[in-house]
Amino acid sequence: MPVYTSEALILRTYKLGEADRIVVFLTRDRGKKRGVAKGARRVRSRFVGALEPMTRAGVAYYEREQRDLVRINYVEPTRSPLSGAASEALGHVGYFAELIDEWAPDAHADERLYRLGSAMTDAIAAGVPVDPLARYFEYWLLRLQGVYPSLASCGGCAEALVSGAVLPPRDDVFLCRTCAPAGGTMVSVDALKFLKAAGATAPEGLAALPLQSRAARELEALHRRLLHVHLEKELKSARVLREMRHAR
Ligand SMILES: [Zn+2]
Repeated sequence: MPVYTSEALILRTYKLGEADRIVVFLTRDRGKKRGVAKGARRVRSRFVGALEPMTRAGVAYYEREQRDLVRINYVEPTRSPLSGAASEALGHVGYFAELIDEWAPDAHADERLYRLGSAMTDAIAAGVPVDPLARYFEYWLLRLQGVYPSLASCGGCAEALVSGAVLPPRDDVFLCRTCAPAGGTMVSVDALKFLKAAGATAPEGLAALPLQSRAARELEALHRRLLHVHLEKELKSARVLREMRHAR
């Protein structure tokens, strides 16, 4: 049985049998894995506190021939997103983990996705405001997959998008307001500015990057649409976050 030791991000867990858990984790070097953590639901388990979503950890696991599930030997946390996080960040931790889980193919290494996720763990732990951080994460995730529409110019007339942009109802290129048909998703100048700055900023720099609530809501709606197109569904955690905000 080959044993591997990887730097990894914990994404989610499921109950298995009486006392075990299945752990879904993204390794830096070998992509996403599913493994059994024996006894993880026992009070004195060595896995206690190590399996929260978005925890960065050293994971040792055995691969077993002819089996998709690996056997987890140990999980040694190196950074927890919850160490410095405000309570409103808690829901986002699950959202970030669910997005990565949806996007990472099994056992296919994606170093850039791993680095992005790992940077989110550090940013949440450092107390970076979660609302701009979520928009930043969605932007980068879609960019890394090569599916974020170009911010450079209008897809119709090729003019620069200086007075905002519109994503038309059934298209995935940005148009200027002159070229856009009615009923698209609006992106204001402020929202475009945030995106352009986010493309050149580390997540820790977000505290100094202004994002007014109107622009934040525009980007949330835009990204929900783009994610929906590419994942072909809405994530449960995204819906929960939205309902929590409306309830406040
Ligand atoms: Zn145009």
